[in-house]
Amino acid sequence: MLALTEAAIRRSMVNCSRSEAAALTPPRDLAELDWDALEVLGWRDPKAELRGYLVHEQADGVVGVALRAADTRMSSRRSAMCLLCHEVQPAAAVSLFTARRVGEAGRNGNTVGTYICADLECAHRAREVPPTARHLAEELQAVAVAERVEGLRQRLRAFTADVLRR
Ligand SMILES: [Zn+2]
Repeated sequence: MLALTEAAIRRSMVNCSRSEAAALTPPRDLAELDWDALEVLGWRDPKAELRGYLVHEQADGVVGVALRAADTRMSSRRSAMCLLCHEVQPAAAVSLFTARRVGEAGRNGNTVGTYICADLECAHRAREVPPTARHLAEELQAVAVAERVEGLRQRLRAFTADVLRR
């Protein structure tokens, strides 16, 4: 994605009020991020424990979604899969997040929920060679990564479309 400024990130938020967008804490070192390698910018708000954000580019502009993590954690003895990047990991590293729908639905308390990496760093995980492809030749590993990245992009689009549905 193209590099974003703090102001652009605040402006992109579709499902929170202007004051909530103004109060969010953007990621540090925005200027140093490797934006080309990011399908989505995801981070937890260091000043608001349960809040997190996903910002990504769509055909008609940048869309930012504010999320709230469930305050319960799953057992680390089990595994769970992030439903965005499809990484399987200890369940404690995956969290249930809810996003308020836009417009009237959101004002009526309507939310969309899904399981996502607790740190919201799906973009980095999607760029790693999946375990099932590690024994393959380099070209095939690259194909596996490209498929993973495309999968993340599609699931992210579907999630955002759900949040934007009125
Ligand atoms: Zn993930």
